[in-house]
Amino acid sequence: MFDNSIGVAIVIQNNSLSVVIIGGGAAGMSAAIAARQAAERASVNCSITLLERNARPGTKISISGGGKCNVTHQGTPAELLEKGFLRMNERRFLRNALYGFSSTDLLELLHSRGVETEVRPDGKVFPLSGDASSVAMAFEELLKELSVKIISSCRVRSVESKNGMFQITSTAEPLTADIVILATGGVSYSKTGTTGDGLIIARKMGHSIKEPSAALAPIVTLKAPPASLSGISLRSAALVASAAGKTVERRGDLLFTHRGFSGPAALSLSRDIAELCRESGSATLFADLFPEHTPAELDQLLLQHARRHGAQMVRKFLQICPIAPLKKGLSEAPHGTIPTALVPFIIRYALLEIDITWSALQKEQRHSLLTVLKRFPLGTVRKVPLDQGEVSAGGVDLGEVNPKTMESRITPNLFICGELLDYAGEIGGYNLQAAFSTGWTAGTSALKKY
Ligand SMILES: Cc1cc2nc3c(=O)[nH]c(=O)nc-3n(C[C@H](O)[C@H](O)[C@H](O)COP(=O)(O)OP(=O)(O)OC[C@H]3O[C@@H](n4cnc5c(N)ncnc54)[C@H](O)[C@@H]3O)c2cc1C
Repeated sequence: MFDNSIGVAIVIQNNSLSVVIIGGGAAGMSAAIAARQAAERASVNCSITLLERNARPGTKISISGGGKCNVTHQGTPAELLEKGFLRMNERRFLRNALYGFSSTDLLELLHSRGVETEVRPDGKVFPLSGDASSVAMAFEELLKELSVKIISSCRVRSVESKNGMFQITSTAEPLTADIVILATGGVSYSKTGTTGDGLIIARKMGHSIKEPSAALAPIVTLKAPPASLSGISLRSAALVASAAGKTVERRGDLLFTHRGFSGPAALSLSRDIAELCRESGSATLFADLFPEHTPAELDQLLLQHARRHGAQMVRKFLQICPIAPLKKGLSEAPHGTIPTALVPFIIRYALLEIDITWSALQKEQRHSLLTVLKRFPLGTVRKVPLDQGEVSAGGVDLGEVNPKTMESRITPNLFICGELLDYAGEIGGYNLQAAFSTGWTAGTSALKKY
């Protein structure tokens, strides 16, 4: 049989095609199911073997979403791409896969296996039972029904391509395969089996690897935030990180923890912070409490307020001051007010006396207050530990994998899918969806040649 796309012939030995999938996470299990279905459609006699290093497949699915599994996000593929993947090259790469196996397709599959789901108001989709392992089990049972051979507690050590066949060495018996689908996941949360084996295997097979770094990780600052701020949240503020003249920023809720920062803004920006730290050694963090206003606009607002409320203490004003107010002014507080616990720090960092009134505030003092409101200092970060990221960015270079098929452009009949690839999605179910979709594409395409 002949593959037109890369011009490599595969002779099916003993009339049976052997497909080996390495890694039994979302991507690997999805690939195995899709491969079996594609083989049945094409009436290809095919053995499908899934090698998983853990005692059972689906370990990471079972701990995802705090044990509840935010399995996907509601919306069209275009909406998911826009909301879930901020980097254009990753969006372009994932486009085909997300259209090929969408969140609707994933939910249909889960519903057909008795896993009912609920959509939260923010669009996140969870199993109705609130039990992440129900998702992993649904996939595992389907694999068994489809006669996918699961070899668990089997760690693959190497894959070599020889004379059109793959030789797979592992802690179990050696295997040969016509097609290999590599789905070993990322490099974080190593206790779930993801220690980066797939990167070593892919590199040995000629692939370039983008150095992995943490994404969706809590931020730990060199000096912990003051204890009195631990647990407060800045609603809809902008978290800003800067290093060596480069600035990155993310809008969203920011949570102060006892070691640094978490919450959607921190998790989302962690990938960029990790990159800044790698390039420059460290990054400085700020919160912009007035992200809708330029410094000049904010100065006008403060000036107007000072004229009208001269007798009011600045501290009292800050206690009722909206956080991230809309352009219109200070009358509305759509995101609540500045947390009271933060006010003494704003006053202190702006070098103001605690009881100063608006009428006593000099121009320079107003400017210093403005600077703190626009750049509230949050500390310095040296490193975002890789293992703590819910996902890892970096991995197999996207340019070396065909986005329509997930086939390696370097080694024919090798398919690569899931978090092992150099993409990372936002919080919200996008990462599992991307793993299921790229896995599905790999499994379907692997059999398409026949
Ligand atoms: C704590 C946590 C919570 C998360 N919550 C969510 C969430 O709610 N929603 C969401 O969308 N995403 C979430 N994610 C991210 C999401 O789980 C991953 O992006 C997704 O599971 C990646 O799927 P994958 O199949 O590519 O990799 P994995 O699911 O990591 O699967 C890879 C598999 O390969 C196996 N493996 C590795 N090396 C070898 C080897 N040498 N031989 C054999 N097997 C090997 C591993 O044991 C593992 O089972 C979360 C991640 C974490 C860590």
